[in-house]
Amino acid sequence: MKVNGFSEDSYAENLIASSIASGKFPHAALIDGGLFEDRLSIALKIASALVCRGGDEKPCRHCPDCLKASHGAHPDIIRLAPEKGKSSDKYAKEDIRRLVADSYTLPNEAETKVYIIERGEILTDEAQNVLLKTLEEPVAHAKFIILCASKENLLDTVLSRVTLFSLGEDAKSPSERAEEAKKAAEQAADALLSPYEFDVVRAAAAFEGNPKLLEETLPLLEEIFACALRIKFGSASAADCESGECASKLAEKLSKNALLALVDSSEELIKSIKANANYNLTTVRFCSLLRSAAKEQE
Ligand SMILES: [Zn+2]
Repeated sequence: MKVNGFSEDSYAENLIASSIASGKFPHAALIDGGLFEDRLSIALKIASALVCRGGDEKPCRHCPDCLKASHGAHPDIIRLAPEKGKSSDKYAKEDIRRLVADSYTLPNEAETKVYIIERGEILTDEAQNVLLKTLEEPVAHAKFIILCASKENLLDTVLSRVTLFSLGEDAKSPSERAEEAKKAAEQAADALLSPYEFDVVRAAAAFEGNPKLLEETLPLLEEIFACALRIKFGSASAADCESGECASKLAEKLSKNALLALVDSSEELIKSIKANANYNLTTVRFCSLLRSAAKEQE
């Protein structure tokens, strides 16, 4: 199925479009970062695609659901906005309770009811706790989309129940992203030398919900391993590498075979990302491949 209207330049929108196309858009999503207008426009695009009952394309822009959605008049797209002129107000427990109660009734026209909570940052803790119950026991026909300036505004319990689509990643400059990738690569390389297995898992956690970072980090990591190998063979020194200090530590502590295996493993991971492999699986393989490669003996 083709999904229309989402920007191909945005990582978050790409992820959203592919989850709709595969029929696996999460029952509870959080869109954070970016501007309020952008978050709302993406949520409305998602809602239109989810209520559309057209053919091979969603939204098809021709079916009655699409027409109503485009006029903001679809009865199964429910927006919860604070009252106009009262932007400092909080969503109260009662607002969320009403919305939750409504979610248990069947859709009016479409197959799915979509609830958009426009300002997640003003949900009180009490209101979030009311919402939490529904997020824990989802109703098949209801989808919740929470919009929020930053996920930090929400309770951890709520965060653990939603799928995050972050627009913040799109807003970062290329140099900020390069710096972040370099740091992640060095952390992962350091973690390989740690006696604690958990340190690699923790380093990999940096990539959670952030496939772009993983994609940008792996080539840097491969470069660190390759450089460590050159140092080991005496054909380079730490000064020749971008992350020289990190590479020479690896060269000192790991065998040649381990370094060779690490170069191979990172290449394999890069290939599987390029082949659009399941992103979560790639993160899991990241841990196991690198850990077993690092254990290779002479
Ligand atoms: Zn349609």
